[in-house]
Amino acid sequence: MLIDTHSHIASEVYIGKTDELLEFANLNGVKKIVSVGCSTKEIKESLSLAQKYPNIYATAGLFPHDTIEDSMIPLADRLAMIRDLALNKKIVAVGECGLDFNEPPPWEIKREDKEQIDLFTEQVRIAIETGLPLIIHSRNSNREIIDILRNFKGIKAVWHCFTEDIETAQIAVSLGLKLSFTGIITYPNAQKIREAVKVTNIQDIMIETDSPYLTPHNARSKGVKINTPGYVKMVAEKIAEIKQLSIDLVEKQTTENAETFFNI
Ligand SMILES: [Zn+2]
Repeated sequence: MLIDTHSHIASEVYIGKTDELLEFANLNGVKKIVSVGCSTKEIKESLSLAQKYPNIYATAGLFPHDTIEDSMIPLADRLAMIRDLALNKKIVAVGECGLDFNEPPPWEIKREDKEQIDLFTEQVRIAIETGLPLIIHSRNSNREIIDILRNFKGIKAVWHCFTEDIETAQIAVSLGLKLSFTGIITYPNAQKIREAVKVTNIQDIMIETDSPYLTPHNARSKGVKINTPGYVKMVAEKIAEIKQLSIDLVEKQTTENAETFFNI
């Protein structure tokens, strides 16, 4: 049994395809899916999926850069919404949130570094106050993420889509974080990340697809363009290969890690 701990299944690329996607997930042993919400629209749609399907769980957070739609709503109102939703049984984490110091794509609205740091810190506080775990996004901002987290010792958090080196992996784990790996670890040029997988204890690892993005290499080379939660199995297989562990052990331990982390 597997859990996809990070999928954007509320994405519009899946409209009308949810049942098909869930069937494929089921065929691949994926029994639970965490549907990530990082804009008010995505949060609401994730929650409605979670309310419809017992094995889907939702999260609520605000991404470092903004969306055009969300930018019309005052930030304080959006944060209040997350705080309220944290009480909902099907909301299992705050996030994804974090820092992203790369230029956003044209359909996002850039937030300056300082604004991002304030917004992230606020969401760390919400996670602590509500007792929910935190899902962290970091791009080109590792030092700042680590500096902030050092101020919140004991925070229950996962570094989503971990693509950093051994040293950063070890610092993150020493702060109590879980590291979550995606299909990127299957890409030929991802040797640095595979080194991080190798040194990280399986008890500290979770797996995810980050679908519809990041289709694993073997699926991609068969022409699959849109990633879905069923492909988290390929991530588990790669971890087993890198760490020289049985696939059964990787499935069992990462599932246990995710169930404990999200309390699902
Ligand atoms: Zn994501």
